[in-house]
Amino acid sequence: MTPEKLLPIAIEAVAAACSITRAAQQAREAFSSLAKDDRSPVTVGDYASQAIVAMMLRERLPRPQDHILVGEEDSSALEGPDAKIIREGILRLVSTWRPQADEAAILEAIDLGQGEATDEGFWTLDPVDGTKGFLRGQQFAIALAWIKHGRVRLGVMGCPGLPVDQSAAVDVPDPEGSIYAAIEGQGAWEYAGCDPQATPMRIVAAQWSGDRPIRFCGSVEKAHGDRSQAGTLIDSLGGGVGVAIDSQCKYALVARGQADAYLRMPRTTEYVERIWDHAAGSIIAAEAGGVVSDIHGKPLDFSHGRGLSSNSGVIVAVPGLHEQLIAGIHDLQLGPAGKREH
Ligand code: AMP
Ligand code: MG
Repeated sequence: MTPEKLLPIAIEAVAAACSITRAAQQAREAFSSLAKDDRSPVTVGDYASQAIVAMMLRERLPRPQDHILVGEEDSSALEGPDAKIIREGILRLVSTWRPQADEAAILEAIDLGQGEATDEGFWTLDPVDGTKGFLRGQQFAIALAWIKHGRVRLGVMGCPGLPVDQSAAVDVPDPEGSIYAAIEGQGAWEYAGCDPQATPMRIVAAQWSGDRPIRFCGSVEKAHGDRSQAGTLIDSLGGGVGVAIDSQCKYALVARGQADAYLRMPRTTEYVERIWDHAAGSIIAAEAGGVVSDIHGKPLDFSHGRGLSSNSGVIVAVPGLHEQLIAGIHDLQLGPAGKREH
């Protein structure tokens, strides 16, 4: 299968998941949530979104080797009487898209996400990236990518609350949202209103001239990135203006020229970034002309299964600035074991 053949299927799946998750967020269905073993929240929206994308990939790409899926969620927490309310919520959401779907079929579809990350090609999905933003009524993303031989070949990211209008505030969800898509070597595109039928607009990252404050972004959740190190780094390069936003929407901000950098400075050496948190966003930013690497300047390596185990943190920036950021991290000895200021 070529990325060109896969792209429309991926866009359609992400668009369906965008409308279901947006409706869930607005109806506050999101608040039926569980805590996973690592204590991170997972909601009916996460499960419904993974079921929808998995069902659509299997329908449109029936050959087993074409719909191998490495998804963030599995159905293990949905068993037993305690999870009945959550199961009913998921069924209610998925039924608005597929009225004939039943509980067993939905649980089976969620578990399609337990596929293996092989060299021969697989999909990776974060069905609701930025679940904490989703629960707070702020930004989140549906991130789907196709990886082969350790490289991301195609990425589609639905940002149901990200306004296309760059003068609008990014922390207030927009009712229309946007979808971003990229194919390796072919550029990055924006679909207004999360509408696969919209005319896609080419997006390009900003030019860096060094004569203005750096516009940068990072996580809302303090545990996900070291803000004080990000501040130290930006200050060392003359200062900037930061915005905190949940999910891979940060990659879209760089890709569409609204931010010069996305900084994810790791707090610990133990945490390994997950492939579904970066696959779609990274190809979109790179195809728009941005540079994506870890904090040492090393490209993200998607050939190690479910984790980016050979990388540390993530730095996304426009050319010119990216080199300066990596040099600054090195010179200031920043990083998980590095010094802390502020
Ligand atoms: P963001 O919205 O950019 O903060 O990213 C959300 C993602 O951060 C979630 O999908 C988690 O997989 C991931 N995450 C969870 N814990 C950590 C951590 N300690 N460091 C970095 N990322 C994390
Ligand atoms: Mg995520």
